[in-house]
Amino acid sequence: MTTALLGVGVGGSRPIAIGAAHLLARHPTIATENIPRRRIPDELARLEAALARARRHLEQVRAQIPTGTPVHIAEFIDAHLLMLTDSALVDATRALIRERAVNAGWALQMQRDTLVEIFDRMDDPYLRTRRDDVDHVVRQIQLFLDDDPPHATPADADLGGCVLVARDLTPADVILLRQRGAAAFVTERGGPMSHTAILARSLDIPTVVGVHNATHLLRTGELLVVNAETGTVLASADQAILDHYRQRLASSEQRRSRLRRLLRKPSTSRDGVPVVLLANLDLASDVAAARANGASGVGLYRTEFLYLNRNGPPDEEEHLATYLGIIRALDGIPLTIRTLDLGLDKPAPGLTPGLTDSNAATANPALGLRAIRLCLKEPALFVPQLRAVLRASAAGPVRMLVPMVTSIAEIETVLGLVNETRRTLRRQGLPYDPLMPLGAMIEVPAAALTAAAIARRLDFLSIGTNDLIQYTLAIDRSDDSVSYLYEPLHPAVLRLIRYILAAAAESRTPVGMCGEMAGDPRYTRVLLGLGLRELSMQPGSLLEVKDVIRRCNIGALTDSMEHMTTHLDDLAPAQILETLATAGDA
Ligand code: PEP
Ligand code: MG
Repeated sequence: MTTALLGVGVGGSRPIAIGAAHLLARHPTIATENIPRRRIPDELARLEAALARARRHLEQVRAQIPTGTPVHIAEFIDAHLLMLTDSALVDATRALIRERAVNAGWALQMQRDTLVEIFDRMDDPYLRTRRDDVDHVVRQIQLFLDDDPPHATPADADLGGCVLVARDLTPADVILLRQRGAAAFVTERGGPMSHTAILARSLDIPTVVGVHNATHLLRTGELLVVNAETGTVLASADQAILDHYRQRLASSEQRRSRLRRLLRKPSTSRDGVPVVLLANLDLASDVAAARANGASGVGLYRTEFLYLNRNGPPDEEEHLATYLGIIRALDGIPLTIRTLDLGLDKPAPGLTPGLTDSNAATANPALGLRAIRLCLKEPALFVPQLRAVLRASAAGPVRMLVPMVTSIAEIETVLGLVNETRRTLRRQGLPYDPLMPLGAMIEVPAAALTAAAIARRLDFLSIGTNDLIQYTLAIDRSDDSVSYLYEPLHPAVLRLIRYILAAAAESRTPVGMCGEMAGDPRYTRVLLGLGLRELSMQPGSLLEVKDVIRRCNIGALTDSMEHMTTHLDDLAPAQILETLATAGDA
């Protein structure tokens, strides 16, 4: 019988996937417990049982390796098997249980920390791999200490076409799992506006987040239908349902090919108003998708992804080389580089103190030291990026965008730093564009309400609706339990957008939008009616949004929106959409 699990869908231009479930190993919960001395023999026996189960599991995996598989895969498993008998791991753990009277999970963790610290002090890349082996093996044993059978995932398992089911995924996980061929993601935690979700959407991977108990209810190997449009995951679907979704997959491919015909058509409304469509990039490699979908520039390059999955920050030369690569690929169309926005749900080891530990949730990172706040506190982190952005501006049209601004004082400090950096570069004879436009993200209500003063000091503004909605409606964007309150058409949000546009108009400062709202074709008419003429989005949405723009009459949308603003508080989101649905269409 078909089972349906509900979560929150993370749209994208390919919302549906059908594939075998692959459960990611659960992270074991490690109870840190001192035990009475009389329980020591029991705890030692638990450890032995877990070791035996882990060994059996690895032997089974080894036996299943198809003939013809590269030999190092079997060696990898052999190494793990050996480690299960390694005295540095196992004997030392037994000794800790005996001498310190602690439970097996904790003893293992303490021994793991000791070993990892030793490996960390070594520079040899091979030994670093061994450090990861220690982690994997310890995690395996800890999972087998649990009473529930684990869903273990060998790090080299082939994920091609699989639906990854996990308790939670970080943006770094998404990147790595995508590289390993995952076709869709289902997670128990996370909201649809978390950076993990945005990344999944921009990689066009159907994703459903907030599916409670997914790792308990789903089994590795069973066929799943993931529908990121409705936020549903179907297991054991019967043939009729599978046929229906296969049909939908085929017709969405057809729609994509119809949309491709718009590629060379102008992004202009029926009444002749041009709208600039730009792409958001998370990774430098996304630039290919931006070009392939006809972007007329990049409105947001999230450089923080350069800092993930590594031990230290990139230096100036690495920043510069990355930017130059993108500029070359853009071939003369503009690149907007957003300076580092680390913090929130994108902690990076060693760079975001207090955010990488398990207390991150209580530290309230959304209101903490993130983005420009972190950069101004740590000039050693910020200045190399500033220098690289300025130097890149000598090679092509570059704009610099500052995230999370909340006050004029921050803008003044950034302007001061930029001027100082320009002077240094001049002294060093390094070229840069003295007219490189400098802009701010308007993504905090305080910035929205002081937009006129911010606009007077800068060259452009970009509205970040993901955060603006989070802060205006007091909804943690990564918390699925409040995602039902995330409403882009809330009157407070629409008023703030109008306010920003009017405030910037006083100094004729251009305003674009780069939050997810800009790339959602359901809201295109609303945004055009409010007065936006520059929208930046993940590349997969560009043609969908262009399709809407080309069908509508912006003059009529502006009139309808104007009319609605007098009684916005009385209008449900559906009424707003309905009123605009056909305004001015042919
Ligand atoms: C936003 O907040 O709308 C935005 C575009 O920035 P990010 O999603 O990276 O926080
Ligand atoms: Mg933001």
